[in-house]
Amino acid sequence: MKAILSFSFLLLLLLGCGKNEDKMDITKNASAPDDFVYQTEQFADLAILRYQIPGFEELSLKEKELVYYLYEAALAGRDIYYDQNYKHNLFVRKTLNAIVRSYKGDRQTKDFKNFMVYAKQFWFSNGIHHHYANKKFTPEFSTEYFTELLRNSDNKMLPMAENETIDDLRSKLIPIIFNPNIDAQKVNLVPGADLIKTSAVNFYEGATQKEVEKYYGSMISKSDMTPIWFGLNSKLINEKGKLNEKVWKVGGMYSPAIGKIVYWLAKAVGVAENDLQKNMLQKLIDYYKTGDLKTWDEYNILWVQDTTSRVDVVNGFVETYDDPLGYKGSYEAIVSIKDLEATKRIDAISKQAQWFEDNSTLPDEYKKKDVIGISAKVITVVVESGNASPSTPIGINLPNSNWIRKIHGSKSVNLGNIVDSYNKAGSDEVFKEFYFSEEEINRAKEFGALADNLHTDLHEVIGHASGQIKPGVGTPKQTLKNYAPTIEEARADLVALYYEIDQKLVDIGVMPNIEVGKAEYDRYIRNGLMLQLVRIEFGENIEESHMRNRQLISKWAYEKGKSENIIEKKLRDGKTYFVINDYQKLRQLFGLLLRDIQRITSEGDYEAAKNLVENYGVTVDKELHKEVKERYARLNIAPYKGFINPVLKPVYNGAKLVDVKIEYPEDFVEQMLYYDENYSFLPIKN
Ligand SMILES: [Zn+2]
Repeated sequence: MKAILSFSFLLLLLLGCGKNEDKMDITKNASAPDDFVYQTEQFADLAILRYQIPGFEELSLKEKELVYYLYEAALAGRDIYYDQNYKHNLFVRKTLNAIVRSYKGDRQTKDFKNFMVYAKQFWFSNGIHHHYANKKFTPEFSTEYFTELLRNSDNKMLPMAENETIDDLRSKLIPIIFNPNIDAQKVNLVPGADLIKTSAVNFYEGATQKEVEKYYGSMISKSDMTPIWFGLNSKLINEKGKLNEKVWKVGGMYSPAIGKIVYWLAKAVGVAENDLQKNMLQKLIDYYKTGDLKTWDEYNILWVQDTTSRVDVVNGFVETYDDPLGYKGSYEAIVSIKDLEATKRIDAISKQAQWFEDNSTLPDEYKKKDVIGISAKVITVVVESGNASPSTPIGINLPNSNWIRKIHGSKSVNLGNIVDSYNKAGSDEVFKEFYFSEEEINRAKEFGALADNLHTDLHEVIGHASGQIKPGVGTPKQTLKNYAPTIEEARADLVALYYEIDQKLVDIGVMPNIEVGKAEYDRYIRNGLMLQLVRIEFGENIEESHMRNRQLISKWAYEKGKSENIIEKKLRDGKTYFVINDYQKLRQLFGLLLRDIQRITSEGDYEAAKNLVENYGVTVDKELHKEVKERYARLNIAPYKGFINPVLKPVYNGAKLVDVKIEYPEDFVEQMLYYDENYSFLPIKN
């Protein structure tokens, strides 16, 4: 876990806010539940949630049709991610599915239940390695029981070659599934080892880290200002001492699945909303057909430019977190429709960008004279696949290519209905355990979700866009170095916090009253001083930059306000709470810190950045840490959550599509089997 965080840390240096990986935050504001069942089950360290697609019914038939084709394209690539994660994953999956479908023995035993937990963990992680920690997990049943499962399942469904026996199959599978030392880590980032040899991810074969670095290093030209992302869409194989790329494209590796993606994308082209979107989808098809990474860049530029379409899609080899060296992209797809209500809210905020800049506490010389709010939108997810499913990001900021971001910009997208589902699945237990008063609970229930959304909007649209560097001073990455991401996140958070209880937000119509902002203050302080510690292992410091920034701000404000008791540490029945006594004074403190952090950023004051981060953001209060972990453990809440996708059902009249219906399945296993039956396009070995 630590390893992947430090890698995302590197990416954050490159990408600013980056992909928001904050998938397990129990501290998000919960809000009152409705009739929809948000959480269906919990096993191991995982919980399964569902989400709705509000707004789908309002779409025109043509838009629904477009969404449906993109939905099929998304799911068509699903197998690719399993195979990318580990070359034996599809082999294991076929075995598990055969057992789940056809095992004739007793299904009520503890052993069988443990088998089902293993199968569900496997599906959740798209393979044998934990989706977040990247470590191989092993079953809670014996190899003998596994043999019994194989013997009592349908032979024809098991992945056996001709004239192979169950024993042959068994001897192949047992090391893969049961031996924790074989292919132990999907992505290894611990320096010192050969990161390629020690990572089980299926991006390289027979090559060493040195060879890979040399291979791609020699391609990258320092003078090329618009470089392609070398290696993004291929597996690199050492064949008899010679390195070769097997490209993921039609006619190349993963061709059966990519061919299906292209088939559905072509249908989508026929019902595109506008020419730009049509060209964009056509570019994506060209890319999948040729594997040409220049075409991929051209596609991304069109994708960034397409801000007006109602329907949007991410489909490709996108995030490079799964490659220890960051070359290879994992298959990922997210189909979405624009959330019009939320977009109105963001537009209202964005229009006031200059007002926010002028009225902030930034030193005058570091205010922007003509600030433009960063373009951001809230989307409603329709389906996710590959790297984005079942575990999903709550925000994405793409494309990843730096020069495209610089010249053409990027899209920052908030996955509204996913966040909403997290909020609604948040249990009452959390309120009872960690909220000090009924007043806090009621405020959170009534305004929590809106408060959370406003914080994100202000952070992204106003926060990151504000301020300027003093002429002659380098970028924060150059001057503040490893402290730059934490300082930048703190800056954006402080802008958001400073304005969250401002009457201005009421006046422009994005919140009904400042109680909304108070709900966010309660949450922020409770999280930053206490709750987020649940994610840290005992004995470790805070490493991740968003977490560092949250503690930095909260702890700084707590200590600066101590003499006036602005934030009070209270004990009740041996439990610790942090209660805000004066919201306006706390706001003034946020303003002071914002002013200083902007100065640090603008002047590139490394020493001051280091002092702030090291003194307030890194060290964990050991006693509080222990207390939070114990209180949290008693609540029995899974640290990781993932989602069952809605199912789209086309309605045909003859050959003509006349409607698309949504179904919301409730059973995770059924969905996995359904996908297996309908979207298994790859052989078990690729
Ligand atoms: Zn940010």
